[in-house]
Amino acid sequence: MKYPDMFRVEPGTKVKLSQMEAGDTGDNRDEAAAQDELGRLTKRLAELQYLLYAESKRSFLIVLQAMDAGGKDGTVRHVIGSMNPQNATVQPFKVPSVEEMAHDYLWRVHKVTPATGQVVVFNRSHYEDVLVVRVHDLVPKEIWSERYDEINAFEKLLSDNGTHIIKFFLHIDKKEQLARFKQRLEDPTKQWKISESDYKEREFWDDYQKAYEAAISKCSTEDAPWYVIPANHKWFRNLVVSRILVKTLESMDMQFPQPTVSIEEIRRQYHVAVEESR
Ligand code: ADP
Repeated sequence: MKYPDMFRVEPGTKVKLSQMEAGDTGDNRDEAAAQDELGRLTKRLAELQYLLYAESKRSFLIVLQAMDAGGKDGTVRHVIGSMNPQNATVQPFKVPSVEEMAHDYLWRVHKVTPATGQVVVFNRSHYEDVLVVRVHDLVPKEIWSERYDEINAFEKLLSDNGTHIIKFFLHIDKKEQLARFKQRLEDPTKQWKISESDYKEREFWDDYQKAYEAAISKCSTEDAPWYVIPANHKWFRNLVVSRILVKTLESMDMQFPQPTVSIEEIRRQYHVAVEESR
């Protein structure tokens, strides 16, 4: 299969993350060339977002998941930062509040899905409810194991109602995570990002990888595919995510709406008005 489609998880595939190369850079050995292409792609992304907004028939949901220090924030900044913030928002998902905990786990999610014409990026998502929740037994297995089907049904509902969904797992390896933690410890502008819990969660690396494999394998569907992005190299991650976003938005065949007024008539009248005011 051809790049970047090769990073798409076909429905029914059983994903094994250890067999997927987090340090892959495909045929792209040259970071400088990648930056040029990235510049063109982000410009194109902004145009496509404008078209989505103009058409205002469909919406676009991007789900970003990764291990700690996996690059969610960087992806938001580099790739999605080019979009007009009026119609593109980023929605983080933290530990649920008391009110959120008093509802079903999709309650807080459904409320913040994109309206027509809008792009919403989930920085973490409803998948936390089969990731951190599963790894730390926050609910019994009988409950979380039902959630894959529930999530598929929820995403189908969104998709049937005009929301395009695309899900990215930013795949780094364990060594790269440690290197990024170390960088954070050493860089005074990044120290605020590091917490003890990052190191504690790292001890559960294998459990998280297993939980990700289950979520990606069970919930990559035609309507809402998962992509596993090699993310050790930030520039390659940005390039691949941008290419996939542009390709997906282009495949939606969006059209500018027809004007609701007669342009000819307005031109004629305006021209007349200009002539008259002279
Ligand atoms: P981030 O790491 O995304 O930049 P934080 O450092 O604030 O942001 O981490 C958010 C935390 O919220 C993560 O530890 C994540 O596992 C947790 N979290 C998100 N959703 C849930 C959930 N449904 N249940 C429990 N914890 C959750």
